[in-house]
Amino acid sequence: MSRICKHVEALEGYVPGEQPHFPGMVKLNTNENPYPPSPKVGEALAGFDWRSLRLYPDPVFTHVREIIARNVGCAPDQVFVGNGSDEILALFTRAFVEVGGTIGYFEPTYSLYSVLAAIRDARGKALPLNADFTCPTPPADFSDVFVWTNPNAPTSLLAPPEQIAAFAKAYPGVLLVDEAYADFAPADCMALAAAPGNANVLVMRTLSKSFSLAGLRFGYCVGPAPLIAALYKIKDSYNLDALAQLVGAAALSDLPHMRANVAKILATRARLTDALAARGWRVLPSASNFLFAAPPAPAKAADLFAALRDRHVYVRYFPGPTTGDWLRITVGSDPEADRLLAELDALTP
Ligand SMILES: *Cc1c(COP(=O)(O)O)cnc(C)c1O
Repeated sequence: MSRICKHVEALEGYVPGEQPHFPGMVKLNTNENPYPPSPKVGEALAGFDWRSLRLYPDPVFTHVREIIARNVGCAPDQVFVGNGSDEILALFTRAFVEVGGTIGYFEPTYSLYSVLAAIRDARGKALPLNADFTCPTPPADFSDVFVWTNPNAPTSLLAPPEQIAAFAKAYPGVLLVDEAYADFAPADCMALAAAPGNANVLVMRTLSKSFSLAGLRFGYCVGPAPLIAALYKIKDSYNLDALAQLVGAAALSDLPHMRANVAKILATRARLTDALAARGWRVLPSASNFLFAAPPAPAKAADLFAALRDRHVYVRYFPGPTTGDWLRITVGSDPEADRLLAELDALTP
């Protein structure tokens, strides 16, 4: 007899992108930011009294909520903060999905959602993207809750906020818009989540990508106060540690630094898109900090992925009928893009 819950024994855990770190490697596989976070982060850490770590942190992170509420233009009771947005996703499934219920999402999308459904002992329900990788509008009765990644991963495409707003209006369940990449996009749904009349939309952001803080673990979401209150009810007492509160507050108080880094990445994104297109690649018009790109025949994405890896350039490859011809490539710095292009030129003369 097994000691492990049946649904846990049956589930396949989420496999994050590999995290190798060695000199000379180019890491374009997990959409991290190539530039350091705000110097205000360094100042906050340098001024931090390590002795104060003996005390528990503020359980409801009052200060960071106020900063986020000010940035977003909503009330502090519309803001929840988690230990990475991955924690918020897990809490979301516990707060708004019954055991045996359904969690909707697109296919392909961030592959964590289906794992979270299995962990919750709920049913993941995937809606295939259109053939051009754009998002169809889900039927209103598609699932109990829906997670809409926008811009989507791994496709990098932005769905128009009007499409999402129209779906939310028709949808009786809770819609979570995962906006991990929104700072790299020309439009977003934050106003929809912050609006006083909104009853069912949560918009989630992370400091991992645009704010260069993947190592910190800090994500937040904004939405109607009653839904946000449900997340507070079920969270761990001290889910956001003192250092995350300190560093998160410093980073979120320096939006110009984040925006300057984003501007550099967008310039590199345009350059890399053009350079790949000039080499015959199909590159989707990215609204994020990564490209979804297919090499020209006879090159095979799977072979290029492995060959690049041998040359210490790490990108991401998702096998399967819809994604198997494509690579997901993080937009790093200009020198990283140059190295990628040089290795590709050496591999595909
Ligand atoms: C990176 C990413 C996340 C995870 O963010 P963390 O805050 O680092 O947990 C969530 N959703 C999507 C779509 C992502 O790409």
